Amino acid sequence: MTEPTYPNLQSPVCPLPLPAGAQILIGHGSGGGMTRDLIVNVFQKYLGNAILNAGNDSALLADELTRHAGSQMVVSTDGHVVSPLIFPGGDIGRLAVCGTVNDVAMLGAQPRYLTANFILEEGFSITELEQILASMADACREAEVEIIAADTKVTEKGKSDNLFISTTGIGWAPAGRSISGQNARPGDAVLVSGPLGNHGIAVMQARGNLGFQSEVRSDTAPLNHLVRELCDAVPDVHALRDPTRGGLATTLVEIARQSGVSILLDESEIPIDVPVRSACELLGLDPLYLANEGKVVVFVPEENAETALAAMRENKYGAQARRIGQVTGRSDGRLLLRTALGTTRVLDMLAGEMLPRIC
Ligand code: MG
Repeated sequence: MTEPTYPNLQSPVCPLPLPAGAQILIGHGSGGGMTRDLIVNVFQKYLGNAILNAGNDSALLADELTRHAGSQMVVSTDGHVVSPLIFPGGDIGRLAVCGTVNDVAMLGAQPRYLTANFILEEGFSITELEQILASMADACREAEVEIIAADTKVTEKGKSDNLFISTTGIGWAPAGRSISGQNARPGDAVLVSGPLGNHGIAVMQARGNLGFQSEVRSDTAPLNHLVRELCDAVPDVHALRDPTRGGLATTLVEIARQSGVSILLDESEIPIDVPVRSACELLGLDPLYLANEGKVVVFVPEENAETALAAMRENKYGAQARRIGQVTGRSDGRLLLRTALGTTRVLDMLAGEMLPRIC
């Protein structure tokens, strides 16, 4: 087979038309001509930028330290193996960007750059790959981040599953900002940016696991702009975390243990959309343990709670923000739920795996 010729990587990319039904072949992982073909004609078409297209083995961030002198650098990394790849309200590409953007934002930082690692399975549809990369590019534009280094590997058919994406994020927090899961304090108000459990139910529905039709869509969204607006309005935010795998309950137990505090939630204040609640009742699931991909839990001093809620509600991803509980005192880390019936129940972390490959 003769190798096609490739445009200079540093010149503007001129995509070659790919044949309909094109699939990932083992040769796309060779590191040779076919890999370059895939990178130039597929990956750079969607994710390209000056740093990525330079075609080096790594990204040189020339003036970054000068530009952010005095700031704190924040780094996070996350693997994404969600199945199916595309689900109501999102896909693995949007998830891979938002998951890492949000983890960087949870320390009060603004993410700036991502790296991405794509594990492709032989036989995977290049049309579907392009759809996912286009969605990834949209999410990057929305979050105002760029993918500046990337890698692709191909496994033989059956040795992986269509597509896995790992992303690493780099961002910057202002000097002196100290937002941490260790910083929840007795007297803090506990807020949540919106209704819970939508991602978990949307993925179950996409798998055909519900057994009935539901209109629930995943909440997958970048929260960095909401976090910036919140931190501008309330400089004294103590802790932020996105309640992803394991849901709200697991996330709050983690923070309670990290900070050595007790948290009391008011069940009647926890926002859950009616279709999510109905699906949970039918399936015997607890929405407090379902995954979310576009929600944040916020700990602020009680006197700042209303200002924080108002700032969050200004952002479309926080329009339904609510105060759901409070930090009641010091302990070895306890989460209590005051139920709608007036009883109090102890909540623990999710035991085992409720829904594998949810993110
Ligand atoms: Mg997280």
